[in-house]
Amino acid sequence: MLPVLADQFDVFLLDLDGVLYLSDEPILEAIDAVTRLLAGGKTIRILTNNPRLSRVALQQRFARAGLTLPVSAIVTAGWAAAHFLSQHGITRADVVGSAGTREALPSEGITLTSTAPEAVVVGADRSTTYLDLQRAMDHILQGAQFVGTNPDTSFPTPTGRGLGAGAILQALEAATGIAPTIAGKPEPLIFEMACADLPPDARVVMVGDNPNTDIRGARRAGLSSILIRTDTTPEDLPPERTPDVVLPSLARLFGHP
Ligand SMILES: [Mg+2]
Repeated sequence: MLPVLADQFDVFLLDLDGVLYLSDEPILEAIDAVTRLLAGGKTIRILTNNPRLSRVALQQRFARAGLTLPVSAIVTAGWAAAHFLSQHGITRADVVGSAGTREALPSEGITLTSTAPEAVVVGADRSTTYLDLQRAMDHILQGAQFVGTNPDTSFPTPTGRGLGAGAILQALEAATGIAPTIAGKPEPLIFEMACADLPPDARVVMVGDNPNTDIRGARRAGLSSILIRTDTTPEDLPPERTPDVVLPSLARLFGHP
């Protein structure tokens, strides 16, 4: 009998939206699959470009779905941006973005300020205004380091596509002529942070539903990848976005029941 896919890896980097959750609803069979992986001694890391919720808020959301994970297992693009700044000795930064991103900075020892910050972290939030973007632009032109949470220009919502952080970042790049450092997938930062404390010989796989961020990011980081197919998965993917394996759901890591 062939070994099930789950046995071929030690560490599972799991995308959140589209793999474990649809909108705000947990995908129950996927949550069950994570429980089985943990029971089998596997290491789990949640790797999400969604900067809306803090790591603690996500931990609580998983707990309500019956899944116990330490905060350290939850890696959000907002936290990765904050951690990147703290690694570079930045202590004062402004945020144009979500509450989850705002909460991430103090947790990394960074003071929030809109007066002469050393960096500005930009994401997307429904309450972002023209004046917020103008403030971010002013900071960038005055020399503040320009950091973006994630490059997704849009994301799925129950009522269609939502405007993503990547679109805001492109607007600011057009206005300032300065490109941001991006923390989220497919950039290497978030993968490096998620894998920083793993043994060098750990067999790591990224599981996600977005070829452009999850799969391309995994390939750039030199990791194996599994694509969870959705209604919008393209038939033909270019080599840099082609996963090692395609599955219809996370539960299929364990093969056919
Ligand atoms: Mg996803």
